Amino acid sequence: MPRDTVSESAKPSGFEILGVRIDRESMESALDWIESRVTQGGRHTAQFVNAHCLNLAYRHRSYSRVLSRADRVFADGSGIRLACRILGLEQPDNVNGTDMLPLLCERAAANGLRLYFLGGAPSVACYAAQELVRHYPGLKVVGNSHGYFGPDQDESVCADINRSGADIVLVGMGAPRQEMWIDTNRQRIDAALVMGVGGLFDFYSGRIPRAPLWMRRTGLEWCWRLAQEPARMWRRYVLGNPLFIARVARERLDRRFEERARERLLSRYDRPFALMLHRLRFAVSSALWRAGIWAWHAAKRGLDIAAAGTLLLMLMPFFLAVAALIRLESPGPVLFRQKRVGLHGKLFTMWKFRSMYIDAEARKAALMAANEMQGGVLFKMKNDPRITRVGRFIRKASIDELPQLWNVVTGDMSLVGPRPPLPSEVALYSLRDRRRLDGVPGITCTWQVSGRSNIPFPRQVALDVEYLESRSLWRDLVILLKTVPAVLTGRGAM
Ligand code: UDP
Repeated sequence: MPRDTVSESAKPSGFEILGVRIDRESMESALDWIESRVTQGGRHTAQFVNAHCLNLAYRHRSYSRVLSRADRVFADGSGIRLACRILGLEQPDNVNGTDMLPLLCERAAANGLRLYFLGGAPSVACYAAQELVRHYPGLKVVGNSHGYFGPDQDESVCADINRSGADIVLVGMGAPRQEMWIDTNRQRIDAALVMGVGGLFDFYSGRIPRAPLWMRRTGLEWCWRLAQEPARMWRRYVLGNPLFIARVARERLDRRFEERARERLLSRYDRPFALMLHRLRFAVSSALWRAGIWAWHAAKRGLDIAAAGTLLLMLMPFFLAVAALIRLESPGPVLFRQKRVGLHGKLFTMWKFRSMYIDAEARKAALMAANEMQGGVLFKMKNDPRITRVGRFIRKASIDELPQLWNVVTGDMSLVGPRPPLPSEVALYSLRDRRRLDGVPGITCTWQVSGRSNIPFPRQVALDVEYLESRSLWRDLVILLKTVPAVLTGRGAM
C-alpha cells in the first residue's frame, strides 16, 4: 500500500519499539490528522498498537511489515508508555481507539464526516452505531457490518463500504486480523481513512462494560479485560505482558551495547574524522569484497574456457572414433541432447554421447519400478536394458560426458559444479534441495570424486551445497585432479 506523499512530508517524530515505528501524536493532533486526511482525499491508513500488538509483530514479520505500511501508528495503552520508560524514551500520549471514538464522533458530527463500522459479532457494530448516534446528534454512521466473514466475502464487504460513501472506516476485528485485512483490502476501499480499532464496538454497544475511569487512568485496564474474559485474555496478559517487558529490556541492552560501541569508536578520534574513517573502511571493504567475487568468477570462467577449449581440440580425433563406434552398433544420432536445469533454474541443452538405444526415454516409465537410487528423485539401474554395449563402456569410463566440454565453452556449465539435474527431478526437489541450483552446474563435483552416484540423494545435495558455500579456485583444481583417478578406476560409475 503506497503511503501518500503529503502525509509523509508532514510526518511527526516517532520512536521504535521491537522493530515497529510508532508516531508521537497527542489525541488532538491525531484527530487533526484524521480530519485533514478526509479533506485531502486519497487512501490513508491508521493503526493503534499496544503491548500485545508489538508481541505479535516481534514474532510475525508479515504483521510487522503491515504496520510499517500504515500512514500513522498510534501508541495505545500503558504498555507502550512503560516500554518507553525502560528504553529511556520520552513518554508518548496514550492515543487509544476507545478514548478516541467519542472525540472523533464529536468532530464527525460537527463536520459532516461519514463513518462505517466493520467488525464485532453480528449486530454489535449496529448497536454501537445506534448508541453513538443517540449521543452525538448529527453523526452519520452510514453503514455497518459484523466482522465474521471469510476472504471470499471481502469483495462484497468492500463494495458495501464503497456504496455507503463513508469517509472513515473503523475496522474492529482484533489484532492482527484487522490490520492484515486492511492491508489486503485497502486499495478496494474508496474511503479516505481506514483504521483498525480492536474490540471497540463491544464497549460502545454496551456488550462489554469498559473499565472504571480510575483503572484506565492508572494503566490497569488490562486487569479489567482479563477479569472479563479470562479464558481468552490470559495468554495475552498473563504471559504476554511479562514477555513484552522482557523483550523491551533486552532491546534496551542491545541499544546500550550499540551505543557504547559507537562511543568507543568516537572517543578514539574526534568526531568528523571517526565518521570519515568509518565510511572509508566500509567503502574499501565493500570494494574489496566485490572485486574478490568478480575476480573469482572471471578466473573460474577463464579456466573453464581455456581447459575445455584445449581438451575439445585435443580430443577431436578420439571423439570421431567414439562417434563411429556408436553409429556402428545402433542407428541414430551420435550425440544425445537433453534439457537440464542450470544456474538459478535456467533450462539449457546438455550434450552427451548417446549410450542408449533411441527409444530409451519412452521405455523409462515402464522401468521406474526398478529404480535403484535412494531418495526417489534420481533414476538409475545397473543392468538397464536400454543401454548399448558401446554405451556401457563409455559410461563406465565416463567418456559419454565429454561432449559437455562444449557446454562449458558456451557457459551453461563449468568444469566443476553440482550435477545439472533433469527438470523432472527438480520438480520433486524441496526448497532446501533447490539450493544446489545456486551455482553454475558442472561436469564433476565433490560427490563424483567421493563415490559418484552411490551416494544417496540427500547427501549429494548436502555435498553440492557445501561446495557452493566454500568454493575456491584451489578447491576446483583439487576436484579436477581427483576426478582423473575416479574416472580411471570407474569408482561409483554405473
Ligand atoms: N472479531 C471480528 N472478527 C473476527 C474476530 C474477532 O470482528 O474474525 C471482533 C470481536 O468480536 C471483537 C474484536 O474483534 O469485537 C476483538 O476484540 P479484542 O478485544 O480481541 O481486540 P483488541 O481491541 O484487543 O485488539
